[in-house]
Amino acid sequence: MIKNASSSTPMRPAINIQKDPYVFSDDALKSPSNHVSMDVSNIVTPYQTKIQQEPNEKRTKKWSIDDFNIGRRLGEGSFSTVILVEEKKTGFLCALKVIKKSTIRQYQQEHQLIRELEIHMRLFHKHILRMYDFFYDSSRIYVILEYAANDTLASYLKHHQHLDNIRTATFIYQIADALNYCHRLKIMHRDLKPENILLGQFHEIKLADFGLALHCPSSRRTQYIGTMDYMAPEVIENEDVNIDDLSCSPADSTTKSPIPYEESADLWSLGIITYELLAGTTPFYDAELTITKKRILSCDYVLPDNIHMDASHFISHLLKYDRLERLTIPDVFEHIFIRSFAQINFLNETLHHFASMHHSQNNPQ
Ligand code: ATP
Ligand code: MG
Repeated sequence: MIKNASSSTPMRPAINIQKDPYVFSDDALKSPSNHVSMDVSNIVTPYQTKIQQEPNEKRTKKWSIDDFNIGRRLGEGSFSTVILVEEKKTGFLCALKVIKKSTIRQYQQEHQLIRELEIHMRLFHKHILRMYDFFYDSSRIYVILEYAANDTLASYLKHHQHLDNIRTATFIYQIADALNYCHRLKIMHRDLKPENILLGQFHEIKLADFGLALHCPSSRRTQYIGTMDYMAPEVIENEDVNIDDLSCSPADSTTKSPIPYEESADLWSLGIITYELLAGTTPFYDAELTITKKRILSCDYVLPDNIHMDASHFISHLLKYDRLERLTIPDVFEHIFIRSFAQINFLNETLHHFASMHHSQNNPQ
């Protein structure tokens, strides 16, 4: 967290990326290091304790790639490579998302990226992946992110094929908790899907990828098409998603101006994810995209017989065509499926246990 130099009160980052002339301009060549600061000692995560062991050391840092030891590659996005890095001075592990400026420029994604960084930088919640800071040099933008030790919910589901009621309800509760925080800040996720949900050290939810999703290069066509499976009917209607557009280059997609829609679209996606976690597949899936679109618009899906009746009730009240009839976030928290199966205190107990273990290791009697 960045601190105001004249005060000891921690402040939200006071950056205004849009007014930052260096992020994308070639002036960055003249000023290769960033001018965004970060107070590392205020980062609090339960298991990355080295930082916390530096008592009261408040330092303001301008980052460069030389500050990090480079580790293994964690993954590849449409516009980025994500690597595990260790901050040299503290040993603090984080994920560094490396984005080539030229690719962002080529696909005219500057505004979307800036918007995403601005939104993400301001979010502080245990189920939202922390974005600590960013910096850049002449050719790349580097985003310093919390390291999610257990990859994505998509890979977890792929490994387990489908999940039981307890695991599903616990994940869904945590996603709803994160959404609740975002919606209160009037931020809609708009691209909720297992690929955008990471898992932390204790397999706790870490919501990621904020703002408008960056559209994929055509080589990643299937990845973008997959998004439609999670789209609410009103989003498809409002944005008038044209199937042909989905196979176009990303540059084409920037010509459409997105029409804002309400938070209930995220709740529809939550219903899709609940179905997918329990059944192992999304409810409207069809190899033919036009059919998926039709099925979403007519709310045509079948609940597998083996799904618990409380889960069926939960899903069918999220997958309502009329968004006014959909469950709200408070309804989700109160729903019998969540109340019966979600291990709501489990994470807190685990963190508490970890913290006391850590305390006794450091304070032997
Ligand atoms: P896209 O637009 O296709 O979603 P992207 O540029 O947003 O791509 P990410 O989806 O954020 O890229 O990251 C790509 C992959 O890197 C993820 O699927 C995940 O496997 C891994 N990854 C990303 N961030 C982290 C993180 N903080 N901790 C661990 N792994 C991560
Ligand atoms: Mg992503």
